[in-house]
Amino acid sequence: MAQGHMIPILDMVKLFGLRGVKTTIVTTPVNLPLISKAIKRTKDLGVEIDVKIVKFPSTEAGLPKGCENLDAITDNEIEMTIKFFKGTSMLQEPLELLLEECKPDCIVADMFFPWTTDAAAKFGIPRLVFHGTSFFAMCSSECVATHEPHKKVSSDSEPFLVPGLPGDIKLTRTQLPDYAGLDAGNEIAKLLKDANEVELKSFGVVFNSFYELEPAYADYYRKVMGRRAWHIGPVSLCNRDAQDKASRGKQASIDEHKCLKWLNAKKPNSVVYICFGSLACLDSAQLMEIAIGIEASGQEFIWVVRKNKKDEEEEEDWLPEGFEKRIEGKGLIVRGWAPQVLILEHKAMGGFVTHCGWNSILEGVTAGVPMITWPTFAEQFYNEKLVTQVLKIGVGVGVQQWARQRTAIEDFVRRERIEKRVKEIMVGDEAEEMRSRAKVLGEMARRAVEKEGSSHSDFNALIEELKVLRSSTKET
Ligand code: UDP
Repeated sequence: MAQGHMIPILDMVKLFGLRGVKTTIVTTPVNLPLISKAIKRTKDLGVEIDVKIVKFPSTEAGLPKGCENLDAITDNEIEMTIKFFKGTSMLQEPLELLLEECKPDCIVADMFFPWTTDAAAKFGIPRLVFHGTSFFAMCSSECVATHEPHKKVSSDSEPFLVPGLPGDIKLTRTQLPDYAGLDAGNEIAKLLKDANEVELKSFGVVFNSFYELEPAYADYYRKVMGRRAWHIGPVSLCNRDAQDKASRGKQASIDEHKCLKWLNAKKPNSVVYICFGSLACLDSAQLMEIAIGIEASGQEFIWVVRKNKKDEEEEEDWLPEGFEKRIEGKGLIVRGWAPQVLILEHKAMGGFVTHCGWNSILEGVTAGVPMITWPTFAEQFYNEKLVTQVLKIGVGVGVQQWARQRTAIEDFVRRERIEKRVKEIMVGDEAEEMRSRAKVLGEMARRAVEKEGSSHSDFNALIEELKVLRSSTKET
């Protein structure tokens, strides 16, 4: 129940549907309007989709009424998030009633719903897990939890190699999620531990990734960690026309035609896109540094600014004086939600400043743009290392501190660094090298989802396996 999970799941529904598989989406009243446009567009293609609504027990879980999506949590983040997950676990009973009624052949459920594996087992059907992240992050997290390299360095800032993980990946202690060692003892760490254990009892995991992007880690996950997995991405590529791309997630705060018109007037590879996903919140001081840094870089840009706290929304204290007048025609500020995939895939796009949410990274890879990595929370620091140390299609902005709360990000990046990094991905030989590596990956991504491509084939294999399972269960 967060955009970064719901968006790729909706794309997955479309992919199943385009292969003739009927799907039923289970959601809650407040989340329904966020997905209904995309569902309608997919149905218009002749795809069979049913939607079932379950009441979200916000009040019973101690949440304000209507708090049914993680992005609705803006205060007391840790306490409210724990309550939020408590609320989701109360959905087991209504889900089981739905399973009784709909009799599906399989459940695909997000990692944050570990209890769905038990629910599925009661009905003798398989449960597939969707993590919404990379093979790389899953493998890194497992290696860190197993070998605890962060306990063997003498300071928070001393880099260590992640033992066992292919590729000599370096991290520091402060970049690790505090649940990485699984000894944090908090509720969220416990939930993630459950999710990890349940994965072994589930039918397997579907990844929004493609084999050629991270072959060593896809192999490691399957062969060394012994997990069953299917890579079916990039799922965003199932959206072929502009309207589909613009319908992902929330209602965009900018008219897509206006946005395209603005981009059409720009030279190829000349615009930087800055976006921190659907949850991370930067404070006014940090936004001000971005504004000054990007202006000083001399590059054209689209910058998505999303402030979480309602009272801050009205205030524009994050913009230098006269900024918008000076950047007229050169920069576009989107306050709220941008049609990200539509923007990234435009030929004018030259670089992406990203918070390293997995969807954003994959969308950036698919678009073939070099990135400035600016991880904030969750598994984003792992994703950063894939981009900078393995794929070499980006440079780190230099943040060191994993944020326990996405609404209280501590690390602060100065304007000079932002300016420097933007220039590094946009101009010069190194930028060109990164860009050409990124473009090659973008082409591979497209091939992966075409007929006989790696993701296309793995998805077919998954469906075939589910069919065999269904007929064998029916026979017994
Ligand atoms: N997104 C978007 N417009 C925005 C912000 C985000 O379309 O203004 C989409 C983005 O394309 C991606 C998802 O929201 O598909 C964000 O997921 P990600 O994993 O990158 O980050 P999260 O929001 O989960 O931190």
